[in-house]
Amino acid sequence: MATDLATFAKERGVKYFLISFVDLFGVMRAKLVPAEAITMISEDGAGFAGFASWLNMTPAHSDMIAMPDPESVIQLPWKPEVAWVAGDLMMDGELVEQGPRNTLKRMIAEADKRGFQMKSGVECEFHLISPDGEELADERDQQAKPCYDTQALMRRYDVISEICDCMLELGWGAYQNDHEDANGQFEMNWGFDDALVTADRHVFFKYMTKSICEKHGLRATFMPKPFSHLTGNGCHMHVSLWSKEDGKNLFDDDNDELGLSELGYQFIAGLMEEAPAMAAITNPTVNSYKRINAPRTSSGATWSPNSVTYTGNNRTHMIRIPGGGRFEFRLADGAVNPYSFGAAVLAAGLDGIDNKRDPGKRLDIDMYELGHTVTDCKRLPLNMLDALRELEKSEVLRERLGEEFISSFLKLKKQEWNDFSKSLTDWERKNTLDC
Ligand code: ADP
Ligand code: MG
Ligand code: MG
Ligand code: MG
Ligand code: MG
Repeated sequence: MATDLATFAKERGVKYFLISFVDLFGVMRAKLVPAEAITMISEDGAGFAGFASWLNMTPAHSDMIAMPDPESVIQLPWKPEVAWVAGDLMMDGELVEQGPRNTLKRMIAEADKRGFQMKSGVECEFHLISPDGEELADERDQQAKPCYDTQALMRRYDVISEICDCMLELGWGAYQNDHEDANGQFEMNWGFDDALVTADRHVFFKYMTKSICEKHGLRATFMPKPFSHLTGNGCHMHVSLWSKEDGKNLFDDDNDELGLSELGYQFIAGLMEEAPAMAAITNPTVNSYKRINAPRTSSGATWSPNSVTYTGNNRTHMIRIPGGGRFEFRLADGAVNPYSFGAAVLAAGLDGIDNKRDPGKRLDIDMYELGHTVTDCKRLPLNMLDALRELEKSEVLRERLGEEFISSFLKLKKQEWNDFSKSLTDWERKNTLDC
């Protein structure tokens, strides 16, 4: 990993750097900086008008500066003359508190204080659609149960293998690619790592996948529910917690039936306590609520949770413990901001540990068939406004993620909800014209 971007450019033949940041709505933004200017930009940062992105700033604010973090640099394998760098947002010499990457770094520092390092792996499902966004890109991809469909996967070999080759070249430990449960849907998996590394890779993966698909005349979408009858795009996160002192996985316990330690159960309990509020962050769009709580899809299942429950190796719950030393959090979707995601998981999980929370007994039932029989579990919010109200009420997330982060996010998201509420849908006309 380079520590000096100018040397990195010289050694690798990089001509341009994308100095990037991600705003509160998860939009990646950047300036393209020639290698000739990188020493200056490394010292002074790249300047932006904060108001022009989703960060709750006004046009009167000072310049917002993205300070490149050289540890994060990634040379674009499909365009090696360009390298991407994550930037940390600053204004008037101070870190911008609501900057999502800054927020994740604060949570990582909290974990560090307790001697913990969180490692995570994300599964970024996406659909391949036509460039106009109207339909699936492959009209022959029509099976009722299309998961793992070899023909449909191999018709996309050129694009999937190009993305996978990039991940291999970058040393991410790519290990499998498949056709997922919806027609036109794919998933590509790489190894887990430190929460900040995974968040940076998550941002880069979305950018890389969109770019390579565009090159092939396709469009990749991570939209939570792009087609109402098909399984939506989830973004599961697998989580483990490691000791800074001796490098051991603190979630490992061979004496537990599922191989998870008490610390692991406390972390899970923290997530379960805050899940309805976290949904505002993990499921951040109007469309997100058409993926969770959804009716059965054409393949037979939504693969997304409807309630706040945990289980062993069973994919119908919000939290799954698939084997020793880790759990899978299945709530988030493709619209999640990768930095806010890691920050929210750490905030809620550490709260569970700090308060020695107990997740109660696990449930082993099929939640899709029998979820309605469970009367003593929390339900997930049914729409974005409910989720925002839950987040507003959460003292834990406000205290841990920071007042500026929470109030900025809520303000902008409420504006978005109001904007959505102004639009008339076809459904309303169909069902109300003759009232
Ligand atoms: P599934 O589809 O069964 O949920 P995947 O193989 O698609 O699982 O994804 C598993 C993810 O979990 C990968 O990113 C993998 O690197 C990650 N992972 C595996 N072990 C751990 C661990 N101990 N801590 C954190 N993440 C892990
Ligand atoms: Mg200008
Ligand atoms: Mg998977
Ligand atoms: Mg999947
Ligand atoms: Mg999964």
